[in-house]
Amino acid sequence: MPKVRITDLTLRDAHQSLLATRMRTRDMLPILEQMDEVGFYSMEVWGGATFDCAMRYLNEDPWERIRSIKRGLEKTPTQMLLRGQNLVGYRHYPDDIVEKFVVLAAKNGVDIFRIFDAMNDVRNMELAIRTALKQGAHVQGAISYTTSPVHTLDAFAKMAVELEALGCHSLCIKDMSGIITPKDAYNLIKRLKEDISIPIDLHSHCTSGMALMAYQAACEAGVDILDCVFSPLSQGTSFPPVESVVAALQGTECDTGIKLESLTRITPYFAEIREKYAALINPVSERVDVNVLQYQIPGGMLSNLVSQLKEQNALDRFEEVLKETPRVRKDLGYPPLVTPTSQVVGIQAVMNVLTGERYKVIPNEVKEYVKGMYGRIPGEIDPELKKKILGDEEPITVRPADLLEPQLQSLAKEAETMGIIKSEEDLLSYALFPAIAVKFLRGEIEEEKLEPPKKEAALPKDALPTEFLVEIDGEEYDVRVTPTGYTEIERAVKKRPKEGVEGGITTNMQGIILKINVNVGDNVKEGDVVAVIEAMKMENEIVAPYSGVVEDIFVSVGDTINSGDVIMVIK
Ligand code: MN
Repeated sequence: MPKVRITDLTLRDAHQSLLATRMRTRDMLPILEQMDEVGFYSMEVWGGATFDCAMRYLNEDPWERIRSIKRGLEKTPTQMLLRGQNLVGYRHYPDDIVEKFVVLAAKNGVDIFRIFDAMNDVRNMELAIRTALKQGAHVQGAISYTTSPVHTLDAFAKMAVELEALGCHSLCIKDMSGIITPKDAYNLIKRLKEDISIPIDLHSHCTSGMALMAYQAACEAGVDILDCVFSPLSQGTSFPPVESVVAALQGTECDTGIKLESLTRITPYFAEIREKYAALINPVSERVDVNVLQYQIPGGMLSNLVSQLKEQNALDRFEEVLKETPRVRKDLGYPPLVTPTSQVVGIQAVMNVLTGERYKVIPNEVKEYVKGMYGRIPGEIDPELKKKILGDEEPITVRPADLLEPQLQSLAKEAETMGIIKSEEDLLSYALFPAIAVKFLRGEIEEEKLEPPKKEAALPKDALPTEFLVEIDGEEYDVRVTPTGYTEIERAVKKRPKEGVEGGITTNMQGIILKINVNVGDNVKEGDVVAVIEAMKMENEIVAPYSGVVEDIFVSVGDTINSGDVIMVIK
């Protein structure tokens, strides 16, 4: 029996970390048969951000993805990443939706559920764990690893014991920021090995450059499973290369039992995939980032911040946002930075920088977080911020989902009247992501186009130029070539008036209209919420800056809007 097993994450976290979660199902299926032969402990292929991104950008049904991957794997268990009560979304869902989702995920082909909670609040994981266990699935409980004055060895060990007691079959140390040092990995695993008896998996991103050393130390401490990806999609904000890990452990006590040749015959396939998606790779997420050691920003969040700032045309503020992030995290009581708390902290940091005043704008999600709606806060909220948000109110003390009414039946009715639901799976897509799912199920989403990879033949051998001298009709022009980023930004759905319309209510964010609370002719008071937009995967309220009458509305629910678009006119 091999001492250390490998979980392959190429089809989930690798492209979520490096390729903005854009890998198509049709690029996964052809290689499954060979991957199935390797002898992986499991392959993580679903969940995380892949669910909504499939619909949002690729016009793909995520349920069809897991079914077709499951069909392609005979020996290797399929694994998904489940965000506890948040499922594959960014907020807490009511219990009936959580149960139904887990049941359907198992039914559609998920064998192993890796379940975590961003706050490490086990109450938020329990229902998903119990439901998955009832389906006969393997449940891997995950600890969101982070460092702070309140995250001690004892605290992690206590959580691991709780997860084992709930019936988890294995435990994952989810180092989403790649910040675990070899020494800390060794000490944590040694400690957990004393306190629990289920297998332990280490999941560490390469962001800080320490992951391979941490894996070595983990082996010395007796780790059971290591998370890796194929080398063309490894390193940077992604993971240690599986080929290297397998080769390094060959002939040691920690031999993985995997034949190197079974991997290297697959490697060229992913080298081609990398080429195909090259335009999506941001140089920032490719290299070792020492800032991570200081700011603790996970790989996925880092590339999100980059693309969010790009969307807002403010990539030049990146450094400032990096510096602001740990300050916001401290103010918020040291949540681990993982979805969705990474978005909570991230969007507040972005707002603090873009508005030029800390907490001038506080997004809904941040208010909810402070109220305890994400779960128990690990540390203390900054008292001034708490007062600003809560006033004299107290945060809740119950499990957040205890406050949520069942929703599935009313959603089913709602969806029925729209005539968009053909299956229970469609209903769940709608329950989780109403705005996106409606567009998707109506067939209104176009697959995002991939930019062609740069042609290497056009480049001189000794340099990677970004400036060219182009001669047209005898005249020389200096042309500079820079990557243009994501194409969906350029594709504004409708032409809308830009700023400058008298009485025009604008947004300073690119996003999707989630709700419109007013009609033409309505009287509104200053401060009324007139619309809600989903921007940066968060809900943001648009409030009337003054009292008046709604004269015109230029958008409808589901519309994509750009920064500066006039949403409505209030006079
Ligand atoms: Mn990860």
